[in-house]
Formats: sequence, C-alpha cells, structure tokens
Amino acid sequence: MLMKRELGRTGVVVSEIGFGGIPIQRISERRALELVNRSIDMGINFIDTHRDYGDSEKKIGRAIKGRRNEVYVCTKSHARDPEGLSLDLETSISNLEVSTVDLYYLHGVNTIEDLRKATSPENLDFLQRMKDEGVIRFLGVSGHLEEPMLKAIETGFFEVVMFPFNYIVPDARKKIIPICKEKGVGFVCMKPFAGGMLDDSKSVLGYVLKYPISTAIPGMALIRELKQNIRVSKMEWFATDEEAEKLEAIGEEIGERFCRNCGYCSPCSHGVEIASLVRLQSWIKRIGWRGKKKEIIRSIKSLDDCIECRECEGKCPYNLPIVEMMNEQTEWLLEEFPSLAILRN
Ligand code: SF4
Ligand code: SF4
Repeated sequence: MLMKRELGRTGVVVSEIGFGGIPIQRISERRALELVNRSIDMGINFIDTHRDYGDSEKKIGRAIKGRRNEVYVCTKSHARDPEGLSLDLETSISNLEVSTVDLYYLHGVNTIEDLRKATSPENLDFLQRMKDEGVIRFLGVSGHLEEPMLKAIETGFFEVVMFPFNYIVPDARKKIIPICKEKGVGFVCMKPFAGGMLDDSKSVLGYVLKYPISTAIPGMALIRELKQNIRVSKMEWFATDEEAEKLEAIGEEIGERFCRNCGYCSPCSHGVEIASLVRLQSWIKRIGWRGKKKEIIRSIKSLDDCIECRECEGKCPYNLPIVEMMNEQTEWLLEEFPSLAILRN
C-alpha cells in the first residue's frame, strides 16, 4: 500500500511518492503513457509537470484522460505579470487537456525582489480570480534558496512550497519543513535524487520520507524506477536517525562539488552557458541529449569563450570551482558521446 500524507491545510491527501514529470520528455509517448498509467494504478495520485518540460504536459494530459479524478495535477509558471501568467496557464490547461489545475506554482522564486514581483497585487488579484473561477485549486511557490522561501511562507499566500531536499542538500529539514508543518503549508520535496546525482531509491527516499514532508516527486522514465521508488513507501524503509546522519556525512563529501542550480553565477559576460555546463551530467541523465542536441552543442561550444576570469566563482554561494567543473563535465560528455566532439568543431 502506497502511503498517503496531508498536503498542508488544503484538505487534500497525496501519495507520499509523487510523479516527477521531467524525464518523460526523453521517452516515447507510448512508454510515457504506460508509465503514468502504471504509476496511477500503483497508487500515485500527485503528478508534477511544467510547460517548460518539453512535451511532458502533453504526455501527462493524454495519459490521465478518463482518469482525471484519480490524480492531482500540478504545473508551474515563471511569469511575473498577469499577462504572462494568463498565457502560461492557458497553454498548460490546453496541453494537459484539463479544466482545472490542482496546484499552480509561481516557479523559481529565488530572490526577495523576485518574490515581491511574483506576489504583486496585480498577480495576486489574477490568481485569486483564477481560484474563484475554479481554474486553479491551490497556489504554490517553488525556489532553491531558503530566505525567499521563508519569506514566501510568511506572506500566507501559498498553500504549498516546493523546495530541493535530499541528503546532499538537507537544509530544509532545519527550518523550512518544520515551519511548513507549523503553518499548514504543504511541503513538496523537489530533487530527492539531487537532479540525478544519487541513484539508490532506498537510501534517497528513505531519507526524505523520514521527515514530515507531504510528498517527494522523483523524476521517472522507467517502470523499474517506479517500482523501486514505490517499494520504499510500501516497505516503510525510512531512515533511522543514525542512518540519516551517515547519509548526510556522505552528502557533505559529494556536496563540495555539487551545483544547487541557484543561478547566482549567471549570466557570464563572455556568453559562457555556465548553468548548463556545470550540470551537464545530471541534465543529460534526466532528460537525455537527443532532443536537446542543439542546446547541448551550443553550451559546450560556449566554453571556448571562457577566459577563466573566475568572476562566476566569486558569485557562487557554495564556492564551487565552476571553471574546473565545467571542463570536467564537458570532458565527461565528450567521452560518453564521442559523436558530439565532431559536431562541436
Ligand atoms: S570564468 Fe569568467 S569567462 Fe569563464 S564562465 Fe566564469 S565568468 Fe565566464
Ligand atoms: S555554480 Fe554555484 S552559483 Fe552557479 S548555479 Fe551552481 S550553485 Fe548556483
């Protein structure tokens, strides 16, 4: 039995393992539909996607046709004005072929200034109208940094927070998760596998499910991954305090060279696509490279313009050796996919 948990004060109860919709971009529609349907059959009732995840929304829309009442569908927008939000929401609704989005996130709110823009009176009026009209059921916010997320919770506007949480980046367990619990805000665990960096379901999900989160949304592309993930919940393989401590110690070692995707290092004044290059391996593991060949080649070509001024490293709050990492990741890619080396030149 897949266990369920409350989604904050929404009154909704969700499966503690949700469906992360990023990786289905890289599989065929037939396999995506089979995977989403098997997930629902196995008890998953929380599906996360975004209109920027390639054709993920469309595949999910087709998969849940006829099963709409069995799932909560969540999607997101990066827009910060009512016009942009309206356009994004309309596109998502059409892609998903639904009349209501259960949970709509203002996505990637990573600074206080951005939070101010996202929660402008005009935006909140628009979102409230969408709620009143039944187009959105609940409002969420997502981001990668603690300060703006804590402020977002304080505003009281959001019913759900989505934030990265795993044993490499465990900070949410100290403040954000307890505060969400106290205020009745649902906590959705983003990146439980650290964006593809970790791969053992038992330790990864056992770690996050030990805490009072609402649900974790691992990205999945294979039935095998689905079964492994669900098994952790069914068997209640939750980490003990001692196991969690050991995992965090491992995470600390990995974390020394792990990009949290906060974006502070960008843009580079020489046009180097830092954000992509520094995370090439996890990007490719999650979404594959075939559909994104052009973007990947453009990114690796942009590395030729790096003058190693290390301005980006000075901006990284985690003091990551960005230049070294970009070179390592590019070398890894070219070794893994030698055909890209020819296209690079
Ligand atoms: S080292 Fe300088 S040129 Fe290279 S990516 Fe960083 S900011 Fe850009
Ligand atoms: S390299 Fe550092 S600053 Fe850039 S996105 Fe990653 S963690 Fe953030």
